[in-house]
Amino acid sequence: MDAEQILAGNRRALAKAITLVESTRAEHRRAADALLDTLLPHTGRSIRIGVSGVPGVGKSTFIEAFGLHLLRQGHRLAVLAVDPSSPVAGGSILGDKTRMERLSREEAAFIRPSPSAGALGGVAHRTRESLLLCEAAGFDVILVETVGVGQSEYEVAELVDFFLVLMLPNAGDELQGIKRGIMELADALVINKSDGESAGLAQRTRQHYQNALHLLRHGSFWAPRVLCCSALENQGIDAVWEMICEYRNEAEACGVLAARRARQNGAWLKRLIAELLEQRFRSDPHVRAELPLLEQQVLRGDLTPRAAARRLLP
Ligand code: GDP
Repeated sequence: MDAEQILAGNRRALAKAITLVESTRAEHRRAADALLDTLLPHTGRSIRIGVSGVPGVGKSTFIEAFGLHLLRQGHRLAVLAVDPSSPVAGGSILGDKTRMERLSREEAAFIRPSPSAGALGGVAHRTRESLLLCEAAGFDVILVETVGVGQSEYEVAELVDFFLVLMLPNAGDELQGIKRGIMELADALVINKSDGESAGLAQRTRQHYQNALHLLRHGSFWAPRVLCCSALENQGIDAVWEMICEYRNEAEACGVLAARRARQNGAWLKRLIAELLEQRFRSDPHVRAELPLLEQQVLRGDLTPRAAARRLLP
């Protein structure tokens, strides 16, 4: 049975299981559900870290440096990606094989590219299940990488314990738009490329963001921090890990970590119910027959959208 092999840390079995949870075929879904039920008692023991940032900020360079640092300390690391922008035909943020080359050769690291967006369910849901599988396989640190655009940050923040946003050393305008929403999600901002001529600017940027975060603080027990690092020169990477360990210890001690995960599971349940209802609705023979006709009538202005919806859902 796959479950035993996964529990034994067999990477091929893990990869196969992730393919199973990513599948949209009904019989695969049933097998995936059964597998997840079996493995559930063996999940939850990792620290789940989200890593976000705009393309080019240095995510893969950072994850490689950070990952190798963790491996040297004896951790086992899984890296998953959420990339809603990846086309169905592939081409995900982790699809490029040259990324994280050294890390991907390590036995204690498991790197999984983003699932392509399918018809059913959000990419983030499948990543959540993949994350549980990685935990069952004994990976004790899980990184979930996402690009710093669009909705994906919110989804990733909903499935991790700690959300880290990589930034570039250039304070100012950039601070205005994005970044407000993201700053509210972030447990830490890490200003990468703090090296060479950018070192001074990075320090000023750090101060800038630290002040901004100070104003934004919403009474949580953790005051989001701003650090500088150079993934390329391997500077400041250890401090990022120390900060996350500190967060974890504090959050565990006061019950915040368990509460955060419980809240996430509650939100996940709600979204799954909505998804399953929609799926059931759309596969109903009456709906399949009527919906295209009703859509036409609505487009022509012969029927109001509400009247059309009521005919399908009396
Ligand atoms: P991603 O698109 O966010 O994954 O970014 P990459 O990790 O691919 O990095 C984009 C570019 O920035 C590459 O040319 C890296 O070598 C460079 N880079 C990444 N981290 C650093 C850093 O700490 N310092 C400097 N100077 N360059 C970096």
